[in-house]
Amino acid sequence: MPHPDDETLAAGTVIAEHVAAGRDVHILLLTRGERSVVLEALNGGPAVGWWGVRHDPAVEGYEPLTEADFGAARYRELVAAVGCMGVPADKIHEAGLPNEGVTINSAKAAIVATANQIGGDVGLWAPSHTVDNHTDHLAAGRAVRQLGTDDPVRWWDRRYYVLPMYWSDARLSQVDWWWDTPNNADVAARARNAVRAYQGWSPRTGSYAIGWQSTYAPFRTIEQTPKSMVHR
Ligand SMILES: [Zn+2]
Repeated sequence: MPHPDDETLAAGTVIAEHVAAGRDVHILLLTRGERSVVLEALNGGPAVGWWGVRHDPAVEGYEPLTEADFGAARYRELVAAVGCMGVPADKIHEAGLPNEGVTINSAKAAIVATANQIGGDVGLWAPSHTVDNHTDHLAAGRAVRQLGTDDPVRWWDRRYYVLPMYWSDARLSQVDWWWDTPNNADVAARARNAVRAYQGWSPRTGSYAIGWQSTYAPFRTIEQTPKSMVHR
């Protein structure tokens, strides 16, 4: 995952189903998403849409956040969310790449290093290499596609997920996509609970609802109808 929230927005159903099927699911976080307008908003900058008013750290009871504080808070949201989906924190791996600075090569190196550490036959999931606009997402998707070209035997199992903001994108005609819908109520509840983990507001204990403040519309989509759009 390039940033905390990608896994819940794009792959919550996929992850919860894999866990339910007894598979060993790991999350590789490429960046902590530390560059965001929400950091400025939390520090008293212009209001973001979902919150609707300016934050005032002094009144709301927290110190202004540095980029590192903000990244750590986003990481905590990710830990909470993947926990809802059944993945414990010790299965989260971090590449420590810069937000908005992921390259195909740096993503490939991080994926290979993590797969070597996990060992065995590792299947790869990444954001779409075609149906996305964010450079970090595209780099991650293209890294997985290139690994498949470099060594199709080792990396035989590669799939991609499409974020909800691209579910009507014209580029979908270029990929052979399908819906992965929750196969039972338990999976749906887990995918939904992960969404809620990104909404927690408790600044004195380090929860800042960063996910929802940064992009609430796709969270609402998944909360209403948990599902994932995937392609090979
Ligand atoms: Zn992302």
